[in-house]
Amino acid sequence: MNIFIKAILRIMLFFIFCLLIVGYIVVRPTFFEKHEPETITVNSDALKKHVVHLSENLSPRSYKNLSNLNQSAKYIKDQLQNYSKDVSFQQYQAKDNEYKNVIARFGPNTKDMIVIGAHYDVMGEYAGADDNASGVAGLIELGRLLSQVDLKNRVELVAYTLEEPPYFASKYMGSYIHADSVKDKNVILMISLEMIGYFTDEEDSQFFPISLMKAVYPTKGNFISIVDQVFSTSASGLKNSINKYTDLPAYSTNAPIAIEGIDFSDHRNYWKFDFPAVMVTDTSFYRNNNYHTAEDTYEKLDYLSMAKVVYGVFKHILELDNE
Ligand SMILES: [Zn+2]
Repeated sequence: MNIFIKAILRIMLFFIFCLLIVGYIVVRPTFFEKHEPETITVNSDALKKHVVHLSENLSPRSYKNLSNLNQSAKYIKDQLQNYSKDVSFQQYQAKDNEYKNVIARFGPNTKDMIVIGAHYDVMGEYAGADDNASGVAGLIELGRLLSQVDLKNRVELVAYTLEEPPYFASKYMGSYIHADSVKDKNVILMISLEMIGYFTDEEDSQFFPISLMKAVYPTKGNFISIVDQVFSTSASGLKNSINKYTDLPAYSTNAPIAIEGIDFSDHRNYWKFDFPAVMVTDTSFYRNNNYHTAEDTYEKLDYLSMAKVVYGVFKHILELDNE
């Protein structure tokens, strides 16, 4: 073999090696023992009821619709009060108006804490069923499940206001206000429920920010995705819990925030305070064409798959609580 061909081969091998390393970091293939199938104790009818109420009766919920935002916050608080004695509003001022997060606390008041959050505001004059009544419904059901167990650590469920533009990426995001308020705590993990209701078995229904990802992820949009920073291991843990305890496939992506969508929710604000945080998502606009349109309505969502997402998250909270 002449030197020239040898050099080309070496370069090719080097590139293949680099691709494999990058692929491993992004996808984090994990091997888990499948648990005995459990009865999913999440109530999919209750999920649907919350989504219908928020998206049909309390829409629109943009930053301009103060009355609907306040009524939504009250609805979420009323629901969570069925499951926790410690539910409160976290009020703050943004420009000329007052906005509020809803916080429900579970377990003892420890320094270590787990935060699960979902935003309840909506972009524009839309119903916002998947984005993000689905996440809020999941949060309320998590409240019901958490009320049935003894926890060793503090778990806070937070429904955030002002995730959407024009306040997105500003310090007026409800999640920034909450993350700042717990900066002296030790947040073991923050989980953002960001659109957890849209699933489809249609061929080629799943899109990706980088087309090479098609080689390693399903092309049907029938899985749930966990998104995390490049060198964190939080996403793989949650992915394993969902895969272990439910039959809904979960995949994780560890990627730099330069890739569009990686920091498109409330988890971004916990990263700012150096807390581990992940986003649980049906991949939003990479799958759901109704994203930020009038078509994002409740009847297009899959409440049984949503129930599996919520159950997997619940099991993961219990695992973290026991570590
Ligand atoms: Zn959203």
